[in-house]
Amino acid sequence: MTPSTDRPASWQVCLVCANEALETDASVRCRACGGLLEVRHRQPELPGAVLRGLFQTRCCSRPDTTQSGVWRFQELVMPTAGPSPVSHPEGNTPLLYRRAIADWAGVADLFLKHEGHNPTGSFKDRGMTVGMTQAVRIGARAVACASTGNTSASLASYAAHAGLPAFVLVPAGKVAQGKLAQTVGYGATVLAVRGDFDACLRLVDATSELLGLYLLNSVNPFRLEGQKTIVLEMLQQLGWEVPDWIVLPGGNLGNTAAFGKALEEAHTWGLIDRVPRLAVVQAQGAAPFARGFAGEFLQRVRVEAETVATAIRIGDPASWDRAVHSIRYTDGVVLAVPDAEILAAKAVIDRSGVGCEPASAAALAGVRQLTATGKIPHDARVVAVLTGNMLKDPDILLSSSGRDTIKEIDATPEALARAVENRGAGRGEK
Ligand SMILES: *Cc1c(COP(=O)(O)O)cnc(C)c1O
Ligand SMILES: [Zn+2]
Repeated sequence: MTPSTDRPASWQVCLVCANEALETDASVRCRACGGLLEVRHRQPELPGAVLRGLFQTRCCSRPDTTQSGVWRFQELVMPTAGPSPVSHPEGNTPLLYRRAIADWAGVADLFLKHEGHNPTGSFKDRGMTVGMTQAVRIGARAVACASTGNTSASLASYAAHAGLPAFVLVPAGKVAQGKLAQTVGYGATVLAVRGDFDACLRLVDATSELLGLYLLNSVNPFRLEGQKTIVLEMLQQLGWEVPDWIVLPGGNLGNTAAFGKALEEAHTWGLIDRVPRLAVVQAQGAAPFARGFAGEFLQRVRVEAETVATAIRIGDPASWDRAVHSIRYTDGVVLAVPDAEILAAKAVIDRSGVGCEPASAAALAGVRQLTATGKIPHDARVVAVLTGNMLKDPDILLSSSGRDTIKEIDATPEALARAVENRGAGRGEK
């Protein structure tokens, strides 16, 4: 990240062998060793304070590019993108405060960055707008991904926008209904693979180049450039006052990698004067990264994953190395929470009227555990990222206990009066 004028604005570098590639190189992995690539940008010419002002003026402007909560930060995401990225637009998600949720978590100053407000209902759209823009730039003829659901919904939507055929590989029978329905609706070809997510990713990763498919999983480094803007937009919403902790769920660890990179760049380039700590929360049945953290990352851990939170049901996270870097750089922590705590957190979020999908609730369950153990002090400022929309997983809402709250009644005033009184809201009660 050293400033140097003989460099192009952006390029790619292999995280394993340091081999460099042009920004527009179509290979999503290093051509020398197959390692994961990272996009690097020359330091922006404008100083941090000027950049912050520029981002602010774009907030309410008209053109699609700056209206987007991703392309508003173009200088830090893809400086060389043309005037028409593949954008819906996306981002501009709210930073919410709910007293009941903060109370439950045990920290007063708790904000929720709700990425479920993106066009297809998850943060994946922030990565996909950049990934699909790159796909168009390099002349891709078709795009593909493996997915636990949200990436496929996002890919399908942005591919339709770009006019490209899309193929998605999902673990058969393990994808939440809302996500599958979206993917079909946006017109992608869905391949339900007999195997888990990790098998889907290995399959598409090994064959995509041969089959002429541009791979848009989070191994694709351009997706992470877009996902950095969750952090940038959150910081902008906080007036660039840095929180003490940012808490997020971790599955394939693309976001963990992106958050660390965003913070490192923002600090190096003068947008923020200190770095918040990251806390990555996994489900106990899918917690290889938490186990790795407990062992000081001396070993890469792989597990058979099982959890109700399907979006983080991942046993062999692709972005392991770059995520380790993020945890080290931010003096972060990684923890695991049981499914019961995830569902308890989700109930609190849902009952407050906010709502989110199960994986998102892991973040809140994590905050509660970290305050209970004293790791996060009660007076800390914390931002928890809600990664996906409540409607993504209707099955879990309408599971046995949820369905029991639906009462069927006759179409008569008496039946309605009885039902209202039974809920303690009728005349003469309370
Ligand atoms: C993809 C996803 C995650 C996991 O993010 P990673 O970057 O894979 O760690 C968490 N929650 C939701 C809702 C997701 O869609
Ligand atoms: Zn390499």
